[in-house]
Amino acid sequence: MGDTDPIFSIQKHDATHLHYDFRIEVGGVLRSWALPKGPSTDPAQKRLAIPTADHELDYATFEGYIPEGQYGSGTVLVWDIGTYRNITEKDGKPQPIDTALGAGHAVIQLDGKKLKGGYILQRGGDGGQPRWLLTKVQDEHADARRKPLISFPYSVLSGRSLDDIKREEGPE
Ligand code: MN
Repeated sequence: MGDTDPIFSIQKHDATHLHYDFRIEVGGVLRSWALPKGPSTDPAQKRLAIPTADHELDYATFEGYIPEGQYGSGTVLVWDIGTYRNITEKDGKPQPIDTALGAGHAVIQLDGKKLKGGYILQRGGDGGQPRWLLTKVQDEHADARRKPLISFPYSVLSGRSLDDIKREEGPE
């Protein structure tokens, strides 16, 4: 992958409920979704992805403790980080990522430390409750038995666990 590929980041976030924040660089910001069950490498597992606020690019590498009462309060670690490539096509033609997301269907190829290969972001649901699904593409990186959330629970940046970070940076 080239140096100019946009970035993605997945942050493990122990807030009211443990979840994973999936973020991809689009148009100079991080488009973001909260994954209550995290990502999977099993194409049979469609993981709910709830859209959340855009974040600044710098936030992709943030980990630490956010005090109670502040936005995003809780403990955050960078579970995976890397670049991605938009491989969305419509009628055989490549579609820009912002167009693809606007249309509710994007296919991206992740090049992370833990996750690699294709993932589909598909908008579904109805009414005022936008909900998306994040699903692994059936490719050479698909693996129904690999459980990356369990096998690789730590930060890819610091090797720390959420408990380590909370102990080092959290309240007394
Ligand atoms: Mn979060």
